[in-house]
Amino acid sequence: MDTFFYYKNSLLFCESVSLLELAKKFGTPLFVTSKQSLLEQYHRFEKAFAALNHLTCYSVKANYNLSVIRTLVDAGSGLDVNSEGELYRALNAGASPQKIIMAGVGKTEAEIEYALRQKILMIKAESLSELKLIEKVARRLKIQASVGIRVTPNITAETHPYISTGNADEKFGIDERLMEKTLLAVKKMKFITVSGLEMHIGSKISNPKYYYDATLKLLEVKSLAEKLGIEITHFDIGGGFPVPYHIGEQETPIEEFAKMLVPLLKNIDAKILFEPGRFMVANASVIVSKTLYIKQNENGKKFVIVDAAMNDLIRPALYGSYHEILPIKKKAGKITADIVGPVCESGDFFARAREIGSVQEGDYVAVMSAGAYGYVMSSNYNARPRAAEVMVSGKTVRLARKRETLEQMIQNER
Ligand SMILES: *Cc1c(COP(=O)(O)O)cnc(C)c1O
Repeated sequence: MDTFFYYKNSLLFCESVSLLELAKKFGTPLFVTSKQSLLEQYHRFEKAFAALNHLTCYSVKANYNLSVIRTLVDAGSGLDVNSEGELYRALNAGASPQKIIMAGVGKTEAEIEYALRQKILMIKAESLSELKLIEKVARRLKIQASVGIRVTPNITAETHPYISTGNADEKFGIDERLMEKTLLAVKKMKFITVSGLEMHIGSKISNPKYYYDATLKLLEVKSLAEKLGIEITHFDIGGGFPVPYHIGEQETPIEEFAKMLVPLLKNIDAKILFEPGRFMVANASVIVSKTLYIKQNENGKKFVIVDAAMNDLIRPALYGSYHEILPIKKKAGKITADIVGPVCESGDFFARAREIGSVQEGDYVAVMSAGAYGYVMSSNYNARPRAAEVMVSGKTVRLARKRETLEQMIQNER
């Protein structure tokens, strides 16, 4: 929840626009994004880390809508991409290649070639085999590749196991214990310049201590690199910064991360990079959805069946994530129900046994905090067209993406 979504005269607003009005105009399910929320998060992050020589690279995978990327790029953000498709989006949103970095545990040769040709700030290599392939492609293209090495610091941050990535038992990066061997090998690669070290220890990490410990590990690797004559100009501590998902939740504020990390990072002789994704976008968007039916079983259990589903937002099914559900029109009373979608899976729910504000059939609800890992993880499951997206800024409403049509869903089939 954030201050850009609020009730006025019992109606839920995004900035200066009523969500009821948007639901009627654009139909549902509808993603609604607050532009000012995006900007506030970005500026808050920048202020927290202002003492550092740094570049914040928004992690595009959290929400890759072009309007969202462009908003952050225009504010000064760099970008972190994970694939050829995300790089294509980043460039289309007007980002300068010199502010783009690329990760990805399984980049193809074509993806590497595309990134090299675009001359992005750095490609982050996640294995020795990938380093060899980058060298081969760079040699063929006669391009000096600017490469970061993704180091797995062997720090297991407390978070959902599906989004913990800092341990060598997960697939990401190169084990810190293999760094000497890796750096010696890469030193011989003539078309690679190792310009950075990177880590990304996971997502939604509430305790800054994990970053502190991992930074110490990455600093050891930096010393080692320098001992071997490799100059590290970029020091990237990744993303994973948390946001609150419950109303009133006291999630560790970004300023607390800065308080612990800035004194350590300030003395590092390199540009500091950050890769926040969720932090920038999670609370900037909601899904507006219409209540289709309400039913009750013989035990008295209630179901609120809405027109959004797991194909629009899979986080509850995938990670058991919590999302607030708010009626668009506040009425007296409460109900306790499972809030579910129309998809043929019992896992298709937004909330279970949840007490929410009173809703009746035909009423609209908002599924909150849907900006990160929402639309980007959507699918056509049950042949459901993907939702439309709008961006609100003050009183201004822009359709950021048209609703997908039935024709578009079958257009590539022969
Ligand atoms: C997903 C990802 C991020 C962003 O993570 P958040 O938890 O959304 O901040 C940053 N860097 C890399 C390499 C990632 O894969």
